[in-house]
Amino acid sequence: MAEQVDVVVIGLGVGGEETAGRLAEAGLNVVGLDPRLVGGECPYWGCIPSKMMIRAANLIAETRRVDGMAGTATVQPDWAPVAKRIREEATDSWNDQVAVDRLVKKGVTFLRERGTITGPRTVQAGDREFEASRGIVIATGTVPVVPPIDGLAGTPYWTNHEAIEADTLPASIVVLGGGAIGLELTQVFARFGVDVTLVEGAGQVLSMEEPESGQLAREALERDGVTFHTGVHAKQVSHRGGTFTITLDDGETVTGEKLLVATGRRVDVAALGLDQVGIDPGVRRIEVDEHVRAADGVWALGDVTGVGNFTHNAMYQANVAVFDILGSEGAPEASYHAMPRVTFTDPEIGAVGMTEKQAREAGLDVKIGSAQIPVSSRGWIHKAGNEGFIKLVVDNERGVLVGATSAGPTGGEVLGALAVAVHAAVPVYSLQQMIYAYPTFHRAIGDALKQL
Ligand SMILES: Cc1cc2nc3c(=O)[nH]c(=O)nc-3n(C[C@H](O)[C@H](O)[C@H](O)COP(=O)(O)OP(=O)(O)OC[C@H]3O[C@@H](n4cnc5c(N)ncnc54)[C@H](O)[C@@H]3O)c2cc1C
Repeated sequence: MAEQVDVVVIGLGVGGEETAGRLAEAGLNVVGLDPRLVGGECPYWGCIPSKMMIRAANLIAETRRVDGMAGTATVQPDWAPVAKRIREEATDSWNDQVAVDRLVKKGVTFLRERGTITGPRTVQAGDREFEASRGIVIATGTVPVVPPIDGLAGTPYWTNHEAIEADTLPASIVVLGGGAIGLELTQVFARFGVDVTLVEGAGQVLSMEEPESGQLAREALERDGVTFHTGVHAKQVSHRGGTFTITLDDGETVTGEKLLVATGRRVDVAALGLDQVGIDPGVRRIEVDEHVRAADGVWALGDVTGVGNFTHNAMYQANVAVFDILGSEGAPEASYHAMPRVTFTDPEIGAVGMTEKQAREAGLDVKIGSAQIPVSSRGWIHKAGNEGFIKLVVDNERGVLVGATSAGPTGGEVLGALAVAVHAAVPVYSLQQMIYAYPTFHRAIGDALKQL
């Protein structure tokens, strides 16, 4: 006999945990399911530990910048404190008891089980079945894409999990994939003295962003000693005597003690029982409407919706789902036109909304304004490590920003102002009349606006 509940949340990563907790606090009878750690990818193998690694790597780089600006300094990189901090402060050695207790305290019934949809409102979890009167929330995230490269399967390659869990670093590593995750980890390893080779199939890294962003990231990582192979694919992998050898489709070979596969993420819903609620189990992402509804009595949120693989998106959609499930007055509707994202390399590359290419493909009358950080007052003062730029993408007809990139020493923070402008469609004229504090990095936004 199915047990009667209000809501079953399948997957308790950032999005599912937030949704389950808030619904339970609102008085609903909620079951939350996850066979792995409550909190999901972000706190244990994603955002938080990777940003701790980046913080450490950036300290090394900043110390090296002392020379010629503030005296002399030498730094002897040591991975041990980074590995220790990840274990002690970020992941609690990959133990989620604190998160489980927090969830249970809110009133959620937690089961460390995989959920399978067995009917329009029923979910199987181990040997128990639940009937959810209000519905089912799918928040099952993504898993790493492992490309079908000849010889790769069966080798001890790394994904982000092994990279984050590393307690010592190899002498050399090959990284497949020049997206945000690949670039961030590449720069960390390089700054800790690892010999890194990065292979990217597209013609440039960060290929989803502005071409200037990919160029900037590549130049920065080359200064850190990284070797790039772009516009080529790995064709064959072998692992012998503790060394990976990767043959590229241009005939070259690259070698490394380790191999990190960072070629993207994919949803893993084939066994979820989506056909029971009228969704094709072979989907590449679960499509949702503005209330993040995927089907009658089914909500989906987070990475599984394919809208943007970001913790802030999972939290945003969780909020939309909670209001909708509770049937609250004035429930917010999801809109993704101002999706912010930051690649936490040094320099940081923040972006919001459309790239220039996307805006042109959308048929907009596009105008571009840009400014270079090194020649801005603050960039010039900053000197070492001042690379970056501001790029504004304007819909000339409406007179508003539809996208922007902010790259530089604090590119992700400067992005905040641009995200407000895109989100609220602040008229360009109004942005041009604003006073930008002197000499801040964000004052370069004013310089870029002058070009318009
Ligand atoms: C290295 C790295 C760095 C990142 N850095 C950032 C960053 O700086 N900023 C940022 O915004 N984002 C970052 N991300 C992305 C961020 O981690 C994800 O966007 C976020 O975790 C998505 O949350 P989610 O709730 O959709 O899914 P997840 O966190 O992936 O959680 C999904 C959960 O569902 C569970 N699950 C799957 N199938 C089932 C099932 N059938 N039954 C029950 N449970 C199931 C899984 O076990 C998992 O715990 C990073 C990711 C990585 C890998």
